[in-house]
Amino acid sequence: MNDSAYQKCINPACGAEFDCGQSLFKCPACGELLDVRYNWDKVKVPSKLNDFAKRWANRENPLDFSGVWRFRELLNFCEDKYKVTIGEGQTILQQNDAVGQYVDMHPGCLYLQYEGLNPSGSFKDNGMAAAFSHAMMVGAKSCACASTGNTSASVALYAHHCGLKCTVFIGSGRIAFGKLSQGMDYGAQTIQIRGDFDDCMRQVQDVCAKLGLYLLNSLNPFRLEGQKAIMYRIIEGLGWQVPDWIIVPGGNLGNSSAFGKAFAELKQLDLIERIPRMAIINATGADTLTELVNNKKLTWNDGKVNQTIIDEYYADLTARNFSPHTCASAIEISRPVNLKKCLRSIDVCNGVVRAVTDEEICDAKAIIGKFGLGCEPASAATIAGLKHLRAEGVVAADERVACVLTGHPLKDPNLTINYHKDKKGKFSNPPIEAPNDFEEIVKLIK
Ligand SMILES: [Zn+2]
Repeated sequence: MNDSAYQKCINPACGAEFDCGQSLFKCPACGELLDVRYNWDKVKVPSKLNDFAKRWANRENPLDFSGVWRFRELLNFCEDKYKVTIGEGQTILQQNDAVGQYVDMHPGCLYLQYEGLNPSGSFKDNGMAAAFSHAMMVGAKSCACASTGNTSASVALYAHHCGLKCTVFIGSGRIAFGKLSQGMDYGAQTIQIRGDFDDCMRQVQDVCAKLGLYLLNSLNPFRLEGQKAIMYRIIEGLGWQVPDWIIVPGGNLGNSSAFGKAFAELKQLDLIERIPRMAIINATGADTLTELVNNKKLTWNDGKVNQTIIDEYYADLTARNFSPHTCASAIEISRPVNLKKCLRSIDVCNGVVRAVTDEEICDAKAIIGKFGLGCEPASAATIAGLKHLRAEGVVAADERVACVLTGHPLKDPNLTINYHKDKKGKFSNPPIEAPNDFEEIVKLIK
């Protein structure tokens, strides 16, 4: 057993601790979220971040090749023999002036982190590499998750790699075609529940508890450990410097939770001099975080989060029979599981929260497609949100900003086709119908 890591309840009034050999996913004492914590004095962490760069010279070792495990001392919760990798994290940080111009940034200041380049096409693979390693460590045989799409695709891919049986729960609402196709293709049992993502999330927790399945949703604290690596790679992409801002879409709030934890730990270890600011971007149709933080002034408050504000807000959603609604299906979530950890990240990173409309998301997506490598709709919320923050003057034009583009454009082809074909958006680029006639076709070529 690895004694350099343990699990700890995030509720300071409880603070219960458990070893990493247990699969808990919620504090058995008080029901709050759990963190993975480290006894840093027992981990041999490099004295500077660019020591990790040496691992690139040893790419025949799969753990050094992995964009998660090459930083393994920073998520040292299991022995190497349990570590799972399918080559995740070979992603790139692209400096992009054309997209930067759209949001009024100075040349050289905007960076796009393309997590769609992961094996299953989304950032989720970072977290699954870590969580499936934990599943191997605890001897899991079957696993399950609830998903708006990307999670199910990633879970299904890692499950068959690890030889685990796999069940994914999806809602009957919006799910992007590309994502749904992956789960089925990778061999997962797919159960479609008549309800939304929040309903699926409740069901999967009960089913996992009843049948002893290993749960892979983002309340699994080991997933968030893997997602920290996205920040390590952004720092790596900037020549081992931190940016001024990280911008991330807000759905279940696992990424923002993981990113804040990553920076807090790097600062604690003296591996970075300062912590960047963070902006979390909701869709206006799924804006729980925006409402709670900006309007109801909910804060981390040293872990003593005002639960009454949350309970009243959720009771109001229930009373109104509210279902979240956005074209960015990956963030169509109104009861985010990692809310409190995200509040902690906002505290750590002096964070801000904004909400953007579907129209703004679709236009930003078209710009990222036209001038960058493209992304799924939720990812484009980052650029749409940055446009707001620039107009407000919250982000300065000469600050260095890294937007996390969470998923690949082919995840949601229907939305892209509708946007362009039906000339719905400012940047629509529809196909032109032509007669089967050489002269006529030549006239059309611009
Ligand atoms: Zn507790």
